Amino acid sequence: MESNGHVLMATTGLPGSHTLAVYRKHGGYEALAIALSKTPDEIIDTVKRSGLRGRGGAGFPTGTKWGFVPKSNDKPKYLCVNADESEPGAFKDRLLLAKDPHQVIEGTLIGAFAIGARRAYIYIRGEFAHEASIVQAAIDEARAAGLVGKNILKSGFECEVVIYLGAGAYICGEETALIESIEGQRGEPRLKPPFPAVVGLFGCPTVVNNVETLACVPHIMKRGWEWFAGIGPERNTGPKLYGLSGHVNRPGVYEAPMGISLRTLIDEYGGGVPGGRPVKGVIPGGASCPVLRGDEIDISMDFDSLTRAGSLFGTGTPVVMDDTTCMVRAAWITARFFAHESCGQCTPCREGCGWMQRILWKIETGRGEERDLDILLSVTDQIEGNTICALGDAAAWPTRGFAKKFRDEFLQHIREKRCPLGGGSLH
Ligand code: SF4
Repeated sequence: MESNGHVLMATTGLPGSHTLAVYRKHGGYEALAIALSKTPDEIIDTVKRSGLRGRGGAGFPTGTKWGFVPKSNDKPKYLCVNADESEPGAFKDRLLLAKDPHQVIEGTLIGAFAIGARRAYIYIRGEFAHEASIVQAAIDEARAAGLVGKNILKSGFECEVVIYLGAGAYICGEETALIESIEGQRGEPRLKPPFPAVVGLFGCPTVVNNVETLACVPHIMKRGWEWFAGIGPERNTGPKLYGLSGHVNRPGVYEAPMGISLRTLIDEYGGGVPGGRPVKGVIPGGASCPVLRGDEIDISMDFDSLTRAGSLFGTGTPVVMDDTTCMVRAAWITARFFAHESCGQCTPCREGCGWMQRILWKIETGRGEERDLDILLSVTDQIEGNTICALGDAAAWPTRGFAKKFRDEFLQHIREKRCPLGGGSLH
């Protein structure tokens, strides 16, 4: 499956890549047959050994997550596929859904078999109506071929795969909000513990996995954990889809190993910055990841390296900003997004996100005072760690990152009582 040197995107550019015929021609569903010949514990062990970490942002080890599902519990088990890709800057899962839905379905079936689930929900964000129709057609094709439903590949294993369409709320990408949403409730995160592996969908053991995470699984089954673990730095293994956007000549989704340098991604894959302008900052993995300065991009794109650098790998989808970008405006746009998407359950998130947005707008429009910077950072401190879910942290971190990394530019706005970049190139 490496006709173009890729694994996850091996068939993406081919005509009919979304069809069962093309997928099978390139070895599709062979991994499912291999998986069904093993025990669930053997599959979980293989995925653990591969080092696969969740591609939805948190980077939690997938095999470990599967292993949390209690075997002694006789309740139904569920696998939910998180296809609610809503993080600003992220668009890699969308490509997989549209171009390679069978790869996702195959990974879903293997995951369901490993945790003992007989029903899987693919939770697709409402705006992805086109992608949802492609995935539904793929499920129908797979069912007709005996790959979904009862007695899959005559193994005795049965699993229904069902699409659930979201309604456009970012917070439904948080796994317990996603579960609430499937149950027909408002998409509001739950207090944890209990964790979904024990009390999840309909009160039953549930695993929520990202689209790209599950797309990796068939390849691990087919090629072995050693192959996957041999790609990328230690503890940060495997191939990865990087969604590159912002000020680059060739924005798009690129497949490269975990651990590729951010500079290589921008310069070689993205064709550099238009007009050869300097990189001023990069949000490395989606809006919730603290910004890196242009002089910090010689860094390995992996979970641990970016955490050590004070940022986050997130979804591995860098947004590049050149020197025409106003960083106060970039911070304000980010804060405005999170203020809009806060579900409102926790006071620090509900009120704090609004405070950050208003202070940033005050500074951007030349009405800021120097003490506003201290208030801004104090608000981020009061949100972080004091909320039900990670959206609070995800909102606080980028604001703090922009304000600390580009403090001089914030002060310039305040002292000159205007935006020195005329609002910059972001609107
Ligand atoms: Fe809702 Fe924000 Fe609290 Fe998460 S942190 S539960 S989004 S109010």
